[in-house]
Amino acid sequence: MKNLSHIDTVCVHAGASPEELTGAIMPPIFQTSTYVQPSPGNPKIYDYSRGGNPTRTALEEALAALEKTKFSVSFSSGLAAVGAIAQLLNPNDHVIVCDDVYGGTGRLFRKLFAKYDIAFEFIDMTDLKKVENSIKSNTKLIWIETPTNPLLKLIDIEKIATLAKKQNALTVVDNTFSSPIFQNPIDLGADIILHSTTKYIGGHSDMVGGCLMLNDKNLADQLKFIQFAGGSVNSPFESFLLHRSIKTLSLRMKKHHENAMQIAREMEKIPLFSEVIFPGLESHPQHSLAKKQMRGYSGMISVRINGDFEKLKLFLSKLKYFSLAESLGGVESLVNHPETMTHASVPEDHRKILGITANLLRFSVGIEDSQDLIEDIKNAAKI
Ligand code: PLP
Repeated sequence: MKNLSHIDTVCVHAGASPEELTGAIMPPIFQTSTYVQPSPGNPKIYDYSRGGNPTRTALEEALAALEKTKFSVSFSSGLAAVGAIAQLLNPNDHVIVCDDVYGGTGRLFRKLFAKYDIAFEFIDMTDLKKVENSIKSNTKLIWIETPTNPLLKLIDIEKIATLAKKQNALTVVDNTFSSPIFQNPIDLGADIILHSTTKYIGGHSDMVGGCLMLNDKNLADQLKFIQFAGGSVNSPFESFLLHRSIKTLSLRMKKHHENAMQIAREMEKIPLFSEVIFPGLESHPQHSLAKKQMRGYSGMISVRINGDFEKLKLFLSKLKYFSLAESLGGVESLVNHPETMTHASVPEDHRKILGITANLLRFSVGIEDSQDLIEDIKNAAKI
C-alpha cells in the first residue's frame, strides 16, 4: 500500500487501489458466498465468504490504516466485536471493566459471559489507585471506554496500559466515541482497539458493524479464527458501505467537533441545563486529560435538565433537528434519554451510583449548520 501519513489522505486512499481488470476506482462489491476452485482444496485466494471476501479485505485494510495498526478484524456489529474479545478468555479469568461502559457491553459481560465463570469487575477507572488495587494474578483484560457512554468520563489510557502490562493483562479500548481521527489508543500502549462502526466510522445511520484493530499477529490470528468460526461477519454490501464512509470520516469528524464545541459553550448559558458535560469544555473535570490524549473532542454532549421528567419530555418534543433515537455518530443530530433507552439494561442500583438519572440527556451532534442546531436547542429550551 502507498505510504500514507496524513489522516485525510489515509481516509480517502486506505484499502483502495484500482481494480485490476477494469480499472474501477471503487473496490467492487463481491456479492458471492463461494469461489470456484481450480482443483480440490486448492482455492485461488478465497474459498467461502464467511472466511474471506475481497470487499471485506479492502475494508479491513482501510480500518487498520485508520488506527495505524497491522491488523483489523471486522464484525457484523460492535457487540459481536466485544463478544469476540470475550471469547479469548477462559474460566476463572478476571476482567476489570470501566463502570460507565456502554450498557450493551455490560449486559453481554454480565448476562452471557459471566456464566462461563469469568469474573467481571466494574470500577471507576478515573481513579487509578482503584485500578491498581483491583488487579489480581488472574486479571487477563482491562476494558476501557473513553470518553465513556453516556457520562463522557475520561480514562487515562497510557497509565492504565502501563499497569496492565505489569500483570501481562491486555488493555482493550473501545474508541467508538472518539473515532480514530481524534484518539489512537495503540499509540498510548493499548493492545486492542474496538469500534462500533455503526457510529462515527459508518457515519450515516444506515448500517450496523464493529471492528477490532491491533498489532499482535498471534492475537489477530485468534480473533480472525473467532470471526470465521463464530460467523459474525460483515456482508459484502455492508463492507462496501463502510469503506465508502471512511473516505469522509476525517471531514465529518472535524465538523462534529466544531459543532459540538460551539453548542456545548452555548448550552452552558442556558438555564434549563444544570450541567453540561463535554470533554472540550474547561469545566469538564478531566479537560486536561482530554487535551493530553485526544486531538479533538468529537460530537457527544451530555446534559442534566433543571426540572422533572415532564419538563424533559416537553423539551424533547420541541426539538426540530435533534431526533429522539438510540445510536450516535451519524451526520444527522440525535438526542437520547439513557435511563430509558441505551442504558435501560444497566441494573437500576448501578445506574443510580453512576448518575444515569432521569434528567440526563445525551446529544449526538451532527454535521448540520451549527447556528441552526443552536437555535433549535435555544427554542426548545424556552419552557
Ligand atoms: N461501544 C459503544 C461505545 C457503543 O456506544 C455501542 C453501541 O451503542 C457499542 C459498543 C455496540 O455497538 P453495536 O450497536 O454496533 O453492536
